[in-house]
Amino acid sequence: MANMITELCFNCGLCESVCPGDGISRGEETFVIDPAHCTECVGFYHRQQCTRVCPIECSVIDPNNAESEEALFERAKKLQPELVDTLELGPETSHFRALDRTLGTKLRSVGRRLGAAVQGSSRAS
Ligand code: SF4
Ligand code: SF4
Repeated sequence: MANMITELCFNCGLCESVCPGDGISRGEETFVIDPAHCTECVGFYHRQQCTRVCPIECSVIDPNNAESEEALFERAKKLQPELVDTLELGPETSHFRALDRTLGTKLRSVGRRLGAAVQGSSRAS
C-alpha cells in the first residue's frame, strides 16, 4: 500500500521534505501523496516518515492500495537508482520487519519476566 493523506491535513508542510521518494506535494485542498513515488518508506526507514513528522498523524496507509513489501522495495530501487547497491531490507528499513522486531522485543521481555517470576517462586518454596 502507498500512504495517503486524509482530509484532516491542515497544510503545515512538514511532511513534504522528509519523503525519500519526493512523493508529497501541495494539492488543491490538502497535501497529497503520489502513490507512484511512495514506498511506505520501505528500503529507507523502518517507519513512514510522513506519518512520523505529521503533528496529527493524518498520513496513513491507504487500505485501497495494497502492495507487497517486495513491490514497494522494487519501487524504492527505481526511485533511487544511484542507491541500488546500498538499499536493503531489514528491521531498520522496512516497517514490515520493524513490526516483527517490536513483537520479538516484547516477547523476549515477557519471557524474562516469566523466568524471573518462576525463579522467585521456586526460591520461596
Ligand atoms: S510513506 Fe514514505 S515514501 Fe510514502 S509518502 Fe510518506 S514519506 Fe514518502
Ligand atoms: S505533516 Fe500532516 S498536516 Fe502537515 S502537511 Fe503533512 S499531512 Fe498535512
